[in-house]
Amino acid sequence: MRRRIYLDSAATTPIREEALQATVGAYRNAFGNSSSVHLFGQEAHRLLEESREEFAACIGARPEEVVFTGSGTESDNLAIRGVALAVREVGRHIITSQTEHHAVLHCCQELEKEGFRVTYLPVDGRGLVDLEALRENIEADTVLISVMTANNETGALQPVREIARIARERGVLFHTDAVQAAGKMPLHVDDLGADLVSFSAHKFYGPKGVGALFIRKGTPIRPIMQGGHHEKGLRPGTVNVPGIVGMARALSTTVEEMEEVLPRLRQLRDELAEALMEEVPGVHRNGDPETSLPHILNLSFEGADGESLLLALDMEGVAVSTGSACTSGSVEPSHVLLAMGVPPRLAQCSLRFSLGRYTTEEDIQHVIRVLPGIVERIRRISGRRRPVLVT
Ligand code: PLP
Repeated sequence: MRRRIYLDSAATTPIREEALQATVGAYRNAFGNSSSVHLFGQEAHRLLEESREEFAACIGARPEEVVFTGSGTESDNLAIRGVALAVREVGRHIITSQTEHHAVLHCCQELEKEGFRVTYLPVDGRGLVDLEALRENIEADTVLISVMTANNETGALQPVREIARIARERGVLFHTDAVQAAGKMPLHVDDLGADLVSFSAHKFYGPKGVGALFIRKGTPIRPIMQGGHHEKGLRPGTVNVPGIVGMARALSTTVEEMEEVLPRLRQLRDELAEALMEEVPGVHRNGDPETSLPHILNLSFEGADGESLLLALDMEGVAVSTGSACTSGSVEPSHVLLAMGVPPRLAQCSLRFSLGRYTTEEDIQHVIRVLPGIVERIRRISGRRRPVLVT
């Protein structure tokens, strides 16, 4: 059988056994609606609150500061729109960065249509926002700063502690999207200093369609959907107890093994980067390994477009991703790489390799064996069609 290698953990991860068992157990033994008053409801409610405690303990929060949602996207929207709705009479200026996930960017763009002003901070070549630029852009009516903990395309780690300090000094609320960072670095909410932090279970070996938002006690926020009084009135809808049970177990078990897994992933990632940069001419590393998560590698291969590389690797059983988003038939270069100053032609030639706890040395060696030939072949073909070598 053909070898299958999954190097797309930043897109999603397989559910880990402990989380799967916990989710299945909850479906079997506590299927009740956690809002129902009867025994079935009470059992589900007890499990929900135990999971809230388990999840909160992993991030150093109080259980009542954790609201469960349906995804990382929903957590981002609840944080940004929810705060905007609550404080719109106080101020209507929001600051974010140009390299945020679309869950943040598109939410901010919608708010612009509704009368908010949004500043999109530029980033440097490593993908990091400039703290001086942040300070300069805070205005009297700035109500919220939203800057991600770690970028999903490059792994770039933003200076969130410093951002939190500035936000606090200036009396501005601070949200950080920690969807990619959770399970990949220690995340303690007091250490981060943020008022709101977004999470998504499927990025750390939990089930899909479950997320969480940490909301520091006292933060002004309104619900963005109307319905029942679930989750303290902030997130209406029957609560996905089995998914939440799985998410809490996924985070606690992943955090437990972090010290052992992460150095191994960093080593494998750097081994892959070094081998490819040595063996293939014209390879550029996007981002700085010193200021990024240990498991993400973003490379541009001059003259070989990312989509072709991805498809050819897929034929070899290797799953990776491009930074490009395929919009209405045309492949746009990644907004993240463009913001970092990567030329569009190189941004179009990028691949993201993202490793996970299941990645092995053999997986990495296989990619090192097959990729140089693939790059050469694609360069040859595209060279015949149109010269795209970047000089
Ligand atoms: N934020 C970041 C940084 C992400 O990488 C993602 C997913 O790719 C999301 C938010 C959205 O999470 P979800 O897929 O749970 O909606």
